[in-house]
Amino acid sequence: MEDEDFPFCSDRCRKIDLGKWAMGVYKISSPVLDPEVLEDLGGLGSGSGGESDES
Ligand SMILES: [Zn+2]
Repeated sequence: MEDEDFPFCSDRCRKIDLGKWAMGVYKISSPVLDPEVLEDLGGLGSGSGGESDES
């Protein structure tokens, strides 16, 4: 099966993504297998960085 890694482009990417997914599961303490939810989890870490703690 050439599509064994689908929807990932490679086994390497698949493992990386599964790792991210696993961390998301730990955070939400709930097994989520919905692709849309996985995308949402991946977007949570791209919104921070605008904090300014100057006093
Ligand atoms: Zn990839």
